[in-house]
Amino acid sequence: MQGNSEKWEGSPESIAYRPGIGVYLTVLAAAAVVIGFVGFFLWYIPTIGLRNIHPALPYVLGAFLFGACALLFGGAAFVAGMAIKGRVPFYSKWLRWLLVKIYLPVMVMAGGILKIPKIRIERAFIEINNQMVRLMGRKFRTEKLLILMPHCIQFDECKIKVTRNVRNCAGCGKCEIGDLLSLSDEFGVNLFISTGGTVARRKVSEERPDAVIAVACERDLTSGLQDSYPLPVMALINKRPRGYCMETGVAIEEVRQAIRDLCTK
Ligand code: SF4
Repeated sequence: MQGNSEKWEGSPESIAYRPGIGVYLTVLAAAAVVIGFVGFFLWYIPTIGLRNIHPALPYVLGAFLFGACALLFGGAAFVAGMAIKGRVPFYSKWLRWLLVKIYLPVMVMAGGILKIPKIRIERAFIEINNQMVRLMGRKFRTEKLLILMPHCIQFDECKIKVTRNVRNCAGCGKCEIGDLLSLSDEFGVNLFISTGGTVARRKVSEERPDAVIAVACERDLTSGLQDSYPLPVMALINKRPRGYCMETGVAIEEVRQAIRDLCTK
């Protein structure tokens, strides 16, 4: 934060960011059991009719369902393995598609059955997404990177309008926008303070960045990641010393690291 007398540093109530790979594995196991049961009945019921058409058809359907499940859970186990290790020899677009479009809804469903709070599922999803984006190994030009910040990061009593032009910020140090602006200048990265998810999505479609660093709460990040797929997005969970949507914060060093992970300089 820039030099000032009223330095804001958050509080112990800030929600700590913890990778949720354990949650991912738990819900994955639960989903395997549920899908196994459902899959059996999906196979068994049609076999009665299929057998009348041709005796081999139930086995063909069984082999198809088994192959689909093996592919699904093989992919999920692979994602978990690479998330635990933090590295993988190659990146697969297909696996990221599975994570966003299939595994997340399955995780939410299984989490509901196991009574795992949705926020933990979302954190697991965000963590795995970030690792996958890092593993893409692609380095983007800084000018093609967009940092998206929520408006609630601004000091509540600041009268300066930063959502239209972040450069209006006077850098007084009462919130982290001044630091983010310095970071944006240092790396030549575009910084945008958004008033909401719709505005953020519009900004992305206007700017057409190659990659995005987004800061928000778990719920907004999760929906943003789904909506913006296949765009590579590094999602950083905000600090919430005063609760949701009120003078939230971000770890500047995490943003700096995310820029380094994604960019060529
Ligand atoms: S937006 Fe800028 S001027 Fe306003 S409180 Fe934050 S750092 Fe200070």
